[in-house]
Amino acid sequence: MGLGETNSNFELRRGTACFQAPALDDTEVLFGWRPQRLGSIGTVSRAKGVYLYDAQDRPILDMASGQVNVNLGHGHEGVLRAMRAQLQDFCYAAPCLNSDVREALTAEIGKVVPFAEDTKVFLCNSGSEAVESAIKLAWAMTGRTKIYAASPSYHGATIGASSISADARRRFAEPGLTGVRHFTPPFAQHLAFKDMSEEEAVHISLSLLRDQITRDGPDTVAAIFVEPVIGSGGVFAWPTAFMQGLREICDAHGILLVFDETMSGWGRTGRWFAAEHSGVTPDILTTAKGITSGYVPLAAVILPKRHADRFDARPFVCGSTTEGHALACATARACLQAYHDENVIARADAMGDHLRQALHAMKSRNFVIKDVRNAGLLGCVELASVRVGRGDRPCDSASCGNWMETLTQSLWRNGVFTIVREHMIFVAPPLTITTAELEQGLGIIERELSAFVAWAA
Ligand code: PMP
Repeated sequence: MGLGETNSNFELRRGTACFQAPALDDTEVLFGWRPQRLGSIGTVSRAKGVYLYDAQDRPILDMASGQVNVNLGHGHEGVLRAMRAQLQDFCYAAPCLNSDVREALTAEIGKVVPFAEDTKVFLCNSGSEAVESAIKLAWAMTGRTKIYAASPSYHGATIGASSISADARRRFAEPGLTGVRHFTPPFAQHLAFKDMSEEEAVHISLSLLRDQITRDGPDTVAAIFVEPVIGSGGVFAWPTAFMQGLREICDAHGILLVFDETMSGWGRTGRWFAAEHSGVTPDILTTAKGITSGYVPLAAVILPKRHADRFDARPFVCGSTTEGHALACATARACLQAYHDENVIARADAMGDHLRQALHAMKSRNFVIKDVRNAGLLGCVELASVRVGRGDRPCDSASCGNWMETLTQSLWRNGVFTIVREHMIFVAPPLTITTAELEQGLGIIERELSAFVAWAA
């Protein structure tokens, strides 16, 4: 059976109850962020290019690049070759030992990150750990403790990274860090800035932020963290004037500007790093995900040398057993090579234009879509609020999961994997996807969305 030829969950269950969680998988696995009774979305047995294959070897179009990290697609031969070669040499050396592969990677990262100066790189294991490290670095570098971040934002699952996030997942880390402040970005989608020009919105939001910092005491603020394109919060690109304003505020008060490019880095938004859209340079940049295209875990914290030099005579305040892992470094080097050699990033930019047009066309056909946004191949379909299960179609979350789970499951049945959270459907395929594959994936998403809307009406 081809992609999209299976009945929709919504058609199957029309007039009956909505999504029924499958009988609990016989599993010892605990799945992150999910109520365990929902089990998994599906099972993957292999993957190649933009396709995952399930236990029956059915192709599933990966419209989320895994977790927005498999930027090069699955099973990239060049990357696999480099991994095999590294396995033959060695996989691991203690953090205090250097290696050719670690040295080469940090130099190569320095050539593509959006810093005009030479950089130094701390290699760790996840986006959360990179953010956690950046918080400690900001504390150590400034002697201050307050951290500012945007609302919405997602910076990770560990306690520090969760604390600075403004996201539903934050609550699990509360009370969390003290001294965290959130500010409101100047997006037209925010009620406060509705019907305002971008210029006015930027002016007001920067003024509010300046006031907040003045009241707090600028000499108590260590850093401002932002995702240069907000990812999990719904794909919002900042106005350049706002980013410039942030830079000015930071410069005026000795506050560090930290860009979290965990999701937005490595070509995802059509640039090596999303910082390039505004031309504003941070003091610290954190990244993960696409650095190894998800083949093995790796993350990085990148500092200009002038900041890194502050640790010449005192200990660097972070470290871990698997810091600078050799296999991860070799994998990242091969990914960088592929980003360079295979025109991946310019292609993502062009495909991003295509995605924008396709999303706007989808919006024009579906009243339930409130807004669509994208930056390169990071896209989001935001739905108007959806009420499911009224009248004769009860859907309490305890028995049915919820509509996003239903939609995700139905998409999987129809050959598409993507991330659906809150009222947002994310579209973030591998940067190697073809126009035909993108169209096919979007077609299935739209069809399932329509079936859902008809069912929920
Ligand atoms: N920062 C951002 C911007 C992210 O999008 C994420 C993950 N989605 C993280 C941090 C956390 O990364 P990880 O899941 O690798 O810990």
